[in-house]
Amino acid sequence: MKKYAIFTAILLMVFGAVVIAGCDNVSEQRTSYVIDAVLDTENMTLTADMDVHYVNESDAELDSLYFHLYPNAYREGARFTPVATSDMAEAYPHGVNYGGIAIGSVTVNGEDCSWEIGGEDENILMITGLEVLPGGELDVGVDFTLAIPETRNRFGHYDGKINLGNWYPIAAVREDGAWRTDPYTTYGDPFYSDTADYDVTITVPSGWEVAGTGSVTASMNGDDMTYVFNADGVRDFALCTSADYTCTEGTAGDVTVRFYGTAPQAESGLSVACDAVETFSELYGEYPYDTLSVVMTPFIEGGMEYPSLVMISDSLGADMTKEAIIHETAHQWWYAAVGSDQINEPWLDEGLTEYSTTLFYEKNPEYGVDIADRIADAMQSYVLFEDVYSDTPDIGVMDRPLGEYSTSTEYAFHAYVKGELMFDSLRHILGDDAFFGALREYYKNYSGSNADAACLIAEFEESSGMNLESFFKSWLSGAAGIN
Ligand SMILES: [Zn+2]
Repeated sequence: MKKYAIFTAILLMVFGAVVIAGCDNVSEQRTSYVIDAVLDTENMTLTADMDVHYVNESDAELDSLYFHLYPNAYREGARFTPVATSDMAEAYPHGVNYGGIAIGSVTVNGEDCSWEIGGEDENILMITGLEVLPGGELDVGVDFTLAIPETRNRFGHYDGKINLGNWYPIAAVREDGAWRTDPYTTYGDPFYSDTADYDVTITVPSGWEVAGTGSVTASMNGDDMTYVFNADGVRDFALCTSADYTCTEGTAGDVTVRFYGTAPQAESGLSVACDAVETFSELYGEYPYDTLSVVMTPFIEGGMEYPSLVMISDSLGADMTKEAIIHETAHQWWYAAVGSDQINEPWLDEGLTEYSTTLFYEKNPEYGVDIADRIADAMQSYVLFEDVYSDTPDIGVMDRPLGEYSTSTEYAFHAYVKGELMFDSLRHILGDDAFFGALREYYKNYSGSNADAACLIAEFEESSGMNLESFFKSWLSGAAGIN
């Protein structure tokens, strides 16, 4: 995600108006999802049949399967909500309203099964009474209906545009002998998943354009349009749709880049996205997919990343729109291809992505962003942040889970600003050969799987021949700040 609250916070601080308040490997067999969905744009509901061919990639027998129900964070009475109280008016301009997911039926291998909705906040579909051996497979069928709330968010509709991020039941990650059932968080991107193959069919009224993860074919179906998406080896699947979109296509090498928005935005937006795909491919390794879709859409944050699809807020100015496209495109390497635990190590993908944005400007001087100024500004604002928040316990500790952040400012300064400064400092210590060599190895070795901080640090140590334990410890755990 791209947090433009950072810049607001910096300005507020400068003007004194602040109110303080294990590395795994790519499996040979993957789980696959086949989803057939029909969108009702009058009632803002979606009904879907989902068939999951689940592969037990763990080394233990499973007696249950857990799936996240992220849309339930948008329901009335949710304990863990997607929007901070202070942001409600911006997220719900027409007043607060609610959405959610209703599960109609669940089957295992075509038979009725034992299931219930649980977790800390009705956020998990639990299927029990199973026996799935290591390497074993089974077919899970889930019928569900979404109520899409009117909100400017990653899951919601507003102003004739519908964002479907984190919208279907997705298998929880199995880790250390347990299911990861983390509930939603107000700050950050509380998502963590394994890669899978997707075939998704969605039917919409004629005239509605649909952007989605992966390759697409579209056909008329009576008065409706049917879009069929295919994406293999992706860790999530997102859709955006509107009758107002014009789709403009370009290419970056072999990659098809699509821009969904209004015609005046298309030339610049497409050009930035193509530049970003080319720049990061040269820096880190080839772009991991065949397509990238950039969608301009109502969104309370600057942007949001999904595999081969990025949502960009349609209320940003021209420079911030470019920056959001660059940032979210960098996430295709750090989040989409190389996955990480965004709940417990949010700095890992956001810090790398934010520094990648700086590197983009360095490699593309025609964008007119001075790198030295950008890093100096980040340093100055970070030092100011620590000064202002000096009475807050553990201020400066950036290695913390999303749930421990109590303000958007704190999260943004740790995961983004301090993350960027840490990677810039490391680059100067290691030199470009070792720094970029490590990132290329990290990308090559963990693309398609999940990595953690130890995996990345090991790559930097190997490429440089240096022991970097104290460097990372002081940045990640140091409460003394930077100077
Ligand atoms: Zn981000």
